[in-house]
Amino acid sequence: MKELNFKQELTAAFGQPIAENPTQVMIEAAYRHHNLDWRYLTIEVGPNDLEAAVRGAKVMGFQGFNCTIPHKVKVIEYLDGLGQSAALMGAVNCVVRRDGQWIGENTDGKGFVSSLRELTDPNRKKVVIFGAGGAARAISVEVALAGASHITIVNRSIERGEELTKLLQDKLPCYADFAPWEGTYSIPEETDVVINATSIGLFPDVDARLDFDLNTLTSEMVVADVIPNPPATNLVRDAREKGCKVIDGLGMLVNQGVIGIKHWTGIDPDPSVMRSALEEVFG
Ligand code: NDP
Repeated sequence: MKELNFKQELTAAFGQPIAENPTQVMIEAAYRHHNLDWRYLTIEVGPNDLEAAVRGAKVMGFQGFNCTIPHKVKVIEYLDGLGQSAALMGAVNCVVRRDGQWIGENTDGKGFVSSLRELTDPNRKKVVIFGAGGAARAISVEVALAGASHITIVNRSIERGEELTKLLQDKLPCYADFAPWEGTYSIPEETDVVINATSIGLFPDVDARLDFDLNTLTSEMVVADVIPNPPATNLVRDAREKGCKVIDGLGMLVNQGVIGIKHWTGIDPDPSVMRSALEEVFG
């Protein structure tokens, strides 16, 4: 008979199945592929319970966790330290146990830059970013840390656009400027990389289009979209038709997962397995 050793005094029992989210499907596919006897669970935590959940995860032996909106900023209060870019952004999406301490990292922007590097080195590049929310903040900080020389933030809300631009100007070694998004935007001729970091095109608004002059997009430009669902947004299709090199939203999602798994397990997972799992989810 197999000897069973019940060390744990508390086992998790979820009363109802929690919907698997795409990140869970992707990360558990990597665990299986690499024979890691790990789990990645989707657990809903309300804003009032965040502190207790972070403490609970520590005493229950979690190696780390991801957190999403609305916890990315608030969670910082309950951590023991921050990685460089998470400190600059003031937002954490990945928490890692290091020497018994909770360290907050931000893998969104790093995941994006990994995808970008597959097509072009951001060093000395001129970059136009649509959006000034959490995704734009993570991407712009990380692209600046990777050596981009000029970043233009294009955003509808002036206040948010100016705030992000000021962060880049004050804290990062790049030239940054802000273009209020009023009417149809023309992409400056010398731009190397164009990034959609808004939520335009996200399911169910799949017909939505960024308001910019398509004639100003040229085949030399690399175009990236953060929207993972659907991966083939209008921007992705338009840019492919123009002959641009294109990164879709799955690239960023996969690569932030790759970095998270490496932080938690020490294993460098195979991104292609993770992408296939996501493609199945998003059809
Ligand atoms: P936020 O709500 O923080 O920011 C949304 C941004 O989109 C703002 O700049 C907002 O402008 C702009 N925006 C939204 N609708 C419009 C519109 N109709 N016209 C012009 N601008 C608009 O969201 P996040 O930054 O957190 O996320 C943005 C997108 O990035 C989401 O779709 C999310 O799915 C995706 N994402 C993808 C990841 C990946 O791994 N692929 C990771 C993280 C996010 P304004 O300031 O004027 O309101």
